[in-house]
Amino acid sequence: MTAKLIEDARKIVVKFGSNTLADAEGKMNTALLSEFAQQAAALIKQGKQIVIVSSGAQVAGLSKLDKWTRKKDLHYRQALCAVGQVELMKSWRVAFEQYGFHIGQILLTREDFNDSNRTLNMRNTIFTLADENIIPIINENDTVSVEEIKIGDNDTLAAQSAILWSADLLILFSDIDGVYDKNPKEFVDAKLIEEVKNIDELRKNIDIGGTNNFGTGGIATKIDAAQMALSYGIPTILAHGGKPRSLETLAAGGQKATAFIA
Ligand code: ADP
Repeated sequence: MTAKLIEDARKIVVKFGSNTLADAEGKMNTALLSEFAQQAAALIKQGKQIVIVSSGAQVAGLSKLDKWTRKKDLHYRQALCAVGQVELMKSWRVAFEQYGFHIGQILLTREDFNDSNRTLNMRNTIFTLADENIIPIINENDTVSVEEIKIGDNDTLAAQSAILWSADLLILFSDIDGVYDKNPKEFVDAKLIEEVKNIDELRKNIDIGGTNNFGTGGIATKIDAAQMALSYGIPTILAHGGKPRSLETLAAGGQKATAFIA
C-alpha cells in the first residue's frame, strides 16, 4: 500500500518529529538528514516534488548551547529555538547541497492559517519554491508562538501545509512503525495496524498510551492530522523515519507502516 501511495503521488509533504531528527545523544542526526536528502533527490529526479515539515529547533539549539539544557523558562526555550532554527536549517542546507538542491525556510504560526491574505502568500511561496525544485522546509515560528497560540505540534502543521499546497500524500515520520492497537513502547505484543479507512472506528479500537517529552498528543495528534488531511482527499502514511533509507524502503514496499486511506 505505501509503495502504491508514493508511486501515485507527485506532491509529497514529509514531516520529521524531533525524536526522529535526534541521535542517541540528543544531538542533530546529520547522517539521517543527509541520507534523506539523497532519497528525496532520487524521487525529485522521477518528477516528484517534496516539501519538508521539520521540527527539531530545540534539539539543534541544544546541540549548540548545551549549557541551556535545564532552562525550562519559556523565554529561554524560545531563545533556544531562535538559535536552533539556524542550526536546523544549516543541517538541511548541507544535506541537500550535496545533491545539488537549494532549500527555502518557511516559518508559520497558527494565525497565518486563519488569515486569507497570508494563506495566499504562503501558498504562492511554497508553489514557487517547489516548482523551481527548491525544497521548502516548514516549521512553526516558535519565537512568536507563545503556548496559548501555538499550532503546538508539527503533525497538525504538516497536515495544514499539505492541504495548503494541495499535496497528493502526507508522510509523518516518527520513532514507531505506525499506529498499534496499544502503545508499542509499553506492550511487546502491540499489533501494528497497516491500513486505516475509518479513523473514528480506529480511535474506538486502540489504546493510546503515554505522551511525549513536551506533554503534547503523541499518537493522538498524528491520527487527528491524518484525519484532517484525509478530509481533503490526502492520504497519510505514518512510518518510522529513523530506519535505514526509510523513504526509499517505503517506496519499494519493504517497510511496514500505517496507511490512512479513503
Ligand atoms: P514524534 O516526536 O515523532 O512526533 P510522539 O512521541 O509525539 O512522536 O508520538 C509517538 C509516540 O506515541 C510513540 O513513540 C508511542 O510511544 C506513543 N504511542 C502511544 N500509544 C500508541 C499507539 N497505540 N500506537 C502507536 N504509538 C503509540
